[in-house]
Amino acid sequence: MQVIGNFINGERVVSESSRNAPVFNPATGEQTKLVTLSTVSETEAAIAVAQTAFETWSKVTPLNRSRIMFRFKALMEQNIDQLAEMITLEHGKVLSDAKGELTRGIEVVEFSCGIPHLLKGEHSLNVGRGVDSFSLMQPLGVCAGISPFNFPVMVPMWMFPIALACGNTFIMKPSEKDPSVIMRVAELLKEAGLPDGVFNIINGDKESVDVLLSDSRVHAVSFVGSTPIAEYIYATGSKHGKRVQALGGAKNHMIVMPDAEVDQVTSALMGAAFGSAGERCMAISVAVCVGDGTADLLIAKLKQEISEMRVGPGSGFIEEPHMGPLVSKVHADKVLSYIDSGIEDGAKLLVDGRDFKVVDHEQGYFVGPTLFDRVKPGMRIYNEEIFGPVLCVVRVKSYNDAVTLINSHEYGNGTSIFTTDGDSARQFCEQIQVGMVGVNIPIPVPMAFHSFGGWKRSVFGPLNMHGNDGVRFYTKMKTVTARWPKGNQTTNTFSMPTMG
Ligand code: NAD
Repeated sequence: MQVIGNFINGERVVSESSRNAPVFNPATGEQTKLVTLSTVSETEAAIAVAQTAFETWSKVTPLNRSRIMFRFKALMEQNIDQLAEMITLEHGKVLSDAKGELTRGIEVVEFSCGIPHLLKGEHSLNVGRGVDSFSLMQPLGVCAGISPFNFPVMVPMWMFPIALACGNTFIMKPSEKDPSVIMRVAELLKEAGLPDGVFNIINGDKESVDVLLSDSRVHAVSFVGSTPIAEYIYATGSKHGKRVQALGGAKNHMIVMPDAEVDQVTSALMGAAFGSAGERCMAISVAVCVGDGTADLLIAKLKQEISEMRVGPGSGFIEEPHMGPLVSKVHADKVLSYIDSGIEDGAKLLVDGRDFKVVDHEQGYFVGPTLFDRVKPGMRIYNEEIFGPVLCVVRVKSYNDAVTLINSHEYGNGTSIFTTDGDSARQFCEQIQVGMVGVNIPIPVPMAFHSFGGWKRSVFGPLNMHGNDGVRFYTKMKTVTARWPKGNQTTNTFSMPTMG
């Protein structure tokens, strides 16, 4: 069986490790490949390669780095069908969704193409008489990225295009569940003209991650994944003196106000809750209905829509399904156990996605769309991130109760409100303790030129992904104060210098 190795110094290399992990096709349950779990010494060797490459890459002009990004963007677009197929085969999401993921990743490359502008820094003429001050935004050195399974291309592309454009070199540690596609992306970077050693991939698990977190040659670590691991990454990387941005899990609520357009809310919720089988950190998993009338009306519509959903394999279909399988058997079992716990905790199961079989794909990891009503704080299905196609309806009496509920949750990644009243929407944007907020938008994922990141236990570290925060994260600022005096300066100054 094919073993996916590493991508070091511009080429695929066979790993020396004796450990590996299976890679599955979630739609069939078939094991298709193995992926190496790299050793400590392989990871250290990759860091050494990236460190050497930094010497020359950091001196390439921003304009020339940007031109490589332009070529990379074009190659990603030319290869989008192949890349999408690769995502679907290991992640399970449907092809159009995989293409959507790629497009959102390509948008970060587009942003990175503007790096000569983004690195301009600040300049002040005459901060004192004959004295100028300006900033230099310089690369850090070797940076590392550790990514989750749910966006095998988009999340790495929140990280490395900006890091590389800023003049850093990079080591990517992808999820071991769907590692094939990012190896192909590395080849496209090379084809675009990226010098060898600037972008490297180490496949592996905690053993490799711990090297990236502790090796003094790595200067910054970007992480996206579950909250317990994000906390660990942030604490360990920071302890070793690195810059860390660690994005964690989520529980995203949507407030449905009594004045909201119910058809609009229903179609927004269907995609936001069940798209990608709920395996999105910005999925809406809780609908907070203000008033019983709002909940009853919405639930009737949702049940109708759910009954018409197509669930099936993400590729090889005649008519594209709305939703594919979950990524692994372990994850599907975890989602099923959440459904059981919801029933035990007293929530009302309206649509049951257990025992869900897809014809000719009986071994696939499918869980059907599931709908709970009368969910309350304290229940596991409310408190914890399920990361599956399970939508919970919580009923509250007022807008204030809805805001209090959301603000009391430990996660604060994304949220949204559906209303036709500008005043409630405006208050919501100001009062809500969540990092990414939508108004009549169900999944408010910021564009590449803005920054992505939550609040509370959804993020650790001060700087978010991409946009200006991304550029700040991958550069260190130096401020130069300069003057060009004529003749010898003979006056000694022992007091604190001041300008005037
Ligand atoms: P995960 O935390 O299990 O894995 C993420 C990465 O960490 C993988 O590369 C994995 O190999 C590595 N890892 C796992 N255990 C480790 C350990 N003990 N030590 C060091 N590294 C370890 O997450 P996942 O299941 O792949 O992804 C789903 C999670 O990611 C969900 O919680 C989801 O909300 C979150 N996520 C968050 C965002 C966001 O922007 N906030 C985006 C996407 C996904």
